[in-house]
Amino acid sequence: MFETVKCKRALSPSGLPGIDYALNPYGGCEHGCVYCYGPEVTHTDFREWRIVRVRSNIAERLAKEAVNIDGTVGIGTVTDPYQYAEKRFKLSCQCLEVLRSAGLRIHIHTKSDLVLRDLDIIAGMKGEVGMTVTTLDDKISHITEPGAPLPARRLDALEKLTDAGVDTYALVGPVLMFLEGKEERFVDAIASTGTGRMCIDRLNMRPELSARMDRMGITGSIAALEKIRRLAEDAGIKVTDVF
Ligand code: SF4
Repeated sequence: MFETVKCKRALSPSGLPGIDYALNPYGGCEHGCVYCYGPEVTHTDFREWRIVRVRSNIAERLAKEAVNIDGTVGIGTVTDPYQYAEKRFKLSCQCLEVLRSAGLRIHIHTKSDLVLRDLDIIAGMKGEVGMTVTTLDDKISHITEPGAPLPARRLDALEKLTDAGVDTYALVGPVLMFLEGKEERFVDAIASTGTGRMCIDRLNMRPELSARMDRMGITGSIAALEKIRRLAEDAGIKVTDVF
């Protein structure tokens, strides 16, 4: 479900490390990940999180705001900029064009191979792309990230971005219990994309999220996280923690 809205501002200051401005063309996210803390951060009911607000004028606003600023613009800091709405509305693509003209650095974070549609633009810009991969198992992905592209498509996108010379990383987070015992295969799959970096994250247990995960019987796994960190470093991948 989409709802078209107008935004007053395109950019907002970001407190995230390495990101100066946040840009979110969409409000809410169709991917509907069970571990998402976006609803809590934006004070949105989780049941309404998949109703996507399309900020239809965001590229026009951005064109006015992007002049005379410097730094890195994070595209998709609380929602996925390449969720399915992007296929139809192309707002992330329009914003990329604006940012390219302004010569600004970008940091894209997504779970979607739709990002490949804009590879020509991205490859010509300064910046990086993070692709989230939390499992190799389609059934687990259907449960935990019901609206997102399946893991193989994300790995393929990560490989294609890397091959095109884009600075990429795999965002492995949150590390859930489902990765226990599968760490080696998982790290092999990430390493095979050619990316040289991994950003790893534990399950961030905010109150509402914690209740939701408890109801589903899903927990994070520090043991799996530490094993993945070790294996990735052994494979020559630079590993950092998300925060
Ligand atoms: S892709 Fe990100 S923003 Fe979208 S539901 Fe999943 S965790 Fe939340």
